[in-house]
Amino acid sequence: MIIVLDAGHGLMTPGKRTPDGMREYEFNRSVAKYAKEKLESYNNIEVNMTHSDHLDVPLHTRTDFANSLNARCFVSIHANAYGGGWNDVGGIETYVYTTPTAESSRLAKTVQNELIKRTGLRNRGVKKANFHVLRETKMTSILVECGFMTNKHEASLLKTDAYRRLCAEAIVKGIASFYALTKSTKLYRVQTGAFSNYENALALSKKLKKAGFDSFIKQS
Ligand SMILES: [Zn+2]
Repeated sequence: MIIVLDAGHGLMTPGKRTPDGMREYEFNRSVAKYAKEKLESYNNIEVNMTHSDHLDVPLHTRTDFANSLNARCFVSIHANAYGGGWNDVGGIETYVYTTPTAESSRLAKTVQNELIKRTGLRNRGVKKANFHVLRETKMTSILVECGFMTNKHEASLLKTDAYRRLCAEAIVKGIASFYALTKSTKLYRVQTGAFSNYENALALSKKLKKAGFDSFIKQS
């Protein structure tokens, strides 16, 4: 199952920052990075990213790429803003397209609930909008706004690594429970030797078996 994560904007995108200078992209990309790591701990998951640290990837490039992947879902990660300076508007909201599929609506609701449960911020609910990334993606797609850059308290959260990890955790928990993903178990292998000569590998394998250890030869 392919999941596309989209960190909104780029480092150099004008505007898109807190009144005291944190760029929205810094938050978006770090949540995307943590979410990717967490998603990859589930079975049969491939995560693709649409953004780049070097430029603000055009929206159509992002959605064309996602559409070329045969992805199951697309999650765009953002931080919100209201007006130009500090104000009291706050909370978390998740967007779906104006005429969303049932799956998009249900995924949005699940992720939104996880975000509220973990952050304790005000629940602004699931909203509809004619955003490019929601309209042009041919798969289930949602856009999360994880707090307001123009709200002093929320801006202070958005700057911390702990809050970024928390948002990533919530997004992943939402996706994982919605698609009933299963955790992959890690295997720890013990190696006793590596040989360029097959005969030598075979000799050690025989020795191990004789000593009562299970052993196999694998070419890498
Ligand atoms: Zn944004």
